[in-house]
Amino acid sequence: MADTFTKAERSRIMAAVKSTDTAPELIVRRLVHRLGYRYRLHVRELPGTPDLVFPRLRKIILVSGCFWHMHGCGRCRIPQTRRRYWLAKLARNSARDRRTRRALNKADWHVLVVWECQTRTSGVDRLRSKIQTFLQKSAMAKRR
Ligand SMILES: [Zn+2]
Repeated sequence: MADTFTKAERSRIMAAVKSTDTAPELIVRRLVHRLGYRYRLHVRELPGTPDLVFPRLRKIILVSGCFWHMHGCGRCRIPQTRRRYWLAKLARNSARDRRTRRALNKADWHVLVVWECQTRTSGVDRLRSKIQTFLQKSAMAKRR
């Protein structure tokens, strides 16, 4: 198959393929570690291979790139070229995210989504307290 992408698009795609151990995720891991919580990473047995899993707390933190997961903030402007391709692709990502979260919720996992833009240095205090509140909160009543 011919390479139909520009160099910039291609490198963006490759960056996404190598999506584990991204900087935002490392920031979140460090925050969680400093708060004194232990977690498992990239648990394949769970829907969507969630990033940080807290088995005993029955909680999960997902770290999402703003562009790839369509956060709707300034970081997800859709490229002007091949707009239709990107819209379709990103819509598929979003649909998959929703399915994953639904499957996790159904299995009684409590999920927090942390966005890439929330891991910026300027917002890191806010993020820390958000994560702390999430992990401290007692498990939600089961809704089965
Ligand atoms: Zn964002």
